[in-house]
Amino acid sequence: MLDADFFRRWMTATAASVEREAERLTALDSPIGDADHGSNLQRGFRAVRDALDKEPPATPGAVLTQAGRLLISTVGGASGPLYGTLLRRTGKALGDAAEVDERQLAEALRAGTDAVMQLGGAAPGDKTMIDALVPAVDALGGSFAAARDAAEAGAVATTPLRARKGRASYLGERSIGHQDPGATSSALLIAALSDAAA
Ligand code: ADP
Ligand code: MG
Ligand code: MG
Repeated sequence: MLDADFFRRWMTATAASVEREAERLTALDSPIGDADHGSNLQRGFRAVRDALDKEPPATPGAVLTQAGRLLISTVGGASGPLYGTLLRRTGKALGDAAEVDERQLAEALRAGTDAVMQLGGAAPGDKTMIDALVPAVDALGGSFAAARDAAEAGAVATTPLRARKGRASYLGERSIGHQDPGATSSALLIAALSDAAA
């Protein structure tokens, strides 16, 4: 079973890997965006980490809804409201249980991913974070490692796609040949699940 501490470790592990990969995320956002994805997420996940360290919420749902709220209030870019919605809606779907199992997490993360698609209007194949999240959610019924590999493969597979949502879509054909920064950070978020479980 996964308790509030597991979810806090998930967010902390995400914050750590965003710190490690911030330069790479910003570099990916340079040719097809405005070169701020790493710093956007760094600001957001630092705030999440600090708040969770100070006063850890008592339930898995509360950890994620608080993290989502903080991302929305601290990240200026498109990714703030999108990641914020992902975590808030996932947290809401977990309800107020003290512990949840992997299947409940997979269902909740699907609800969160659906909410991101509704908010941003992106579908799979549009070269966004959705291209990492949807395969990860599909694989999450198996194991965290399977979800991590699926998210990473989904992020890599955005390279030949033409962007149809977000800033990169302004480039049209010229967005082809670059890996999407948001799909890359979503793969980090999913990889952090296995870190939290270890
Ligand atoms: P901004 O584009 O405002 O600078 P970021 O650079 O932080 O924001 O985030 C860019 C990422 O957000 C993109 O790589 C993409 O994955 C994701 N994104 C942008 N628009 C959408 C959308 N409508 N739906 C889903 N994801 C999106
Ligand atoms: Mg950007
Ligand atoms: Mg920006």
